[in-house]
Amino acid sequence: MLAADPARLGAEAVRAERAGADWLHVDIMDGHFVPNLTFGPAIVRALRGATSLPLDVHLMCSRPASLIEPFAEAGASGLTIHVELGAQATDLLWKIRSLGLKAGLAVNPPTPIQAVRPLLPQIDLLLVMTVNPGFGGQSFIEECVPKIQQAAVWRRELGRPFRIEVDGGINDTTAAECAGVGADTFVSGSALFRQRNLPAAIRRMRILVKRHAGVHEKPRKRAPAVR
Ligand code: ZN
Repeated sequence: MLAADPARLGAEAVRAERAGADWLHVDIMDGHFVPNLTFGPAIVRALRGATSLPLDVHLMCSRPASLIEPFAEAGASGLTIHVELGAQATDLLWKIRSLGLKAGLAVNPPTPIQAVRPLLPQIDLLLVMTVNPGFGGQSFIEECVPKIQQAAVWRRELGRPFRIEVDGGINDTTAAECAGVGADTFVSGSALFRQRNLPAAIRRMRILVKRHAGVHEKPRKRAPAVR
């Protein structure tokens, strides 16, 4: 929704729904965790009234503890917090789940993927940021691709079906690249919203990611054969 026309958010949500989007991703920035301000719970509530799509709410906020309940009450379907918050992340994820919402964990480009490993049993979604958060319309950071690949390995090892979502600079090319290493959920703002024919753009991206799904995932380590 960050790439939508801010003066027509409800209409843009309906446009995305009619065009075949599966979810709406809503970037919440607090002017502190990132140097930008975007939406609050009132906007999420308004979007909830405009569309029946799941609202995937990404909290780029330094103090999300006091925001979880307001966003849950506003109609968020899932809430994603950042691993960069440190020790409080465990309690935040627990709180999100206790409210019946999908719990997401995001990791910024400079943060090693190892930081998310202890929290994987607690999450429904891992958001690998593919740009530094703060503004829409940035270019994809290639160095984030191995992090997706590692996350997909852990997902198989743990046998936990959390989604791997990518967010930032996602267009047809980068979506296909991320799908190849195990991403299955794609946040695309500017690349989709600027298309006049949004249904065709979403269809095209969906076909591309299906075609590339998992082709470059690391092979499963074989257990030694017992003979
Ligand atoms: Zn986001």
